[in-house]
Amino acid sequence: MFDCYNRKISYLRISITDRCNLRCYYCMPEGGVPLIGHDKILHYEEIAEVVKEATALGIDKVRITGGEPLVRRGVEELVAMIAQIPGINDFGMTTNGILLEKYAPILKEAGLHRVNVSLDAINPSRYRELTRGGDVEQVFRGIEAAQQAGLTPVKINCVVQQTSEEKDAREVKEYSRSHNLEIRFIHQMSLEHGCFTTVEGGDGGDCSRCSRLRLTAEGKIKPCLFSDIEFDIKELGIREALLQAINLKPEKGSVNTLNAFNNIGG
Ligand code: SF4
Repeated sequence: MFDCYNRKISYLRISITDRCNLRCYYCMPEGGVPLIGHDKILHYEEIAEVVKEATALGIDKVRITGGEPLVRRGVEELVAMIAQIPGINDFGMTTNGILLEKYAPILKEAGLHRVNVSLDAINPSRYRELTRGGDVEQVFRGIEAAQQAGLTPVKINCVVQQTSEEKDAREVKEYSRSHNLEIRFIHQMSLEHGCFTTVEGGDGGDCSRCSRLRLTAEGKIKPCLFSDIEFDIKELGIREALLQAINLKPEKGSVNTLNAFNNIGG
C-alpha cells in the first residue's frame, strides 16, 4: 500500500520485548527502566496475526527487534510462525549477539533469513564499558555462528556519537571488512528531542522514502519512530489499526515522548 505521500509501505519492524541482557549507555539507564507487564505483552500467535494482515496490505519485509529479542523464551517458535506466512521476501532480526552462538542454527532452521548485530566497539574493555558489562567475545562467536548457519548477509549496526571516523567505529569497520560483514553507522538519536539522521550505509532516517511501520510489544502500530501517533490493535482490530497507521503516517518525524529505544527497537 502507498501512504498519502506516495511512499510504498512494505516494511514492518516488530518489537517483541522491552527486556535486554545488556545496558547500553545510549539506550537504558544503569538501573534499567520500568518494564512492560507480561500480561500486556502480545502472544506470539497475536504477532503472527498482525504479520498475516500486514502482508495482505503489501508488507514484504519483516524484522524482529526488542529490547533484545533472544531473551524472550520461545522466540524460535515465533520465527517459525512468521516464516510460514506467504509474501515475506526479507525476514530478519536485530540482536546484540550475546546469545546468537546458541540460537543461530535454531533460527535458521525455523526460517529466519538474516541478522543484524549491534556492535559499537571491538575492544573488550570499551565494549564492556559501553554495554555496562557485556562480553564482546560472545558477540564475535555469535557472528561466526550466524555466518556458518547461513543467516546472511550478516550486517553490523554500529552506533556512533558524532561520526563514523571515531576510534571505536573505525575499529568496528576494519573488523567488519576482515570478516566479510556489511556495516552501517547509526548516529545516536534522541526520541524525545527528535534528533535523528539518516543511517550511513542503510536507508533508515530518510523520511522522504520511508517504508516502515512498527509494532510494539504491547500491540501498538506506530507509523513513525519519531512520533506519538499510534494505533492499538486491541481497540481497533488489526486491519483497521494497520490501515489507519498507513493513511495517517506523518510526512516526517518529529518527537516521540511515548516510547524508549528498549521498547520500540529503533
Ligand atoms: S522519522 Fe519517521 S518517517 Fe522519518 S524515516 Fe524515521 S520512521 Fe520514517
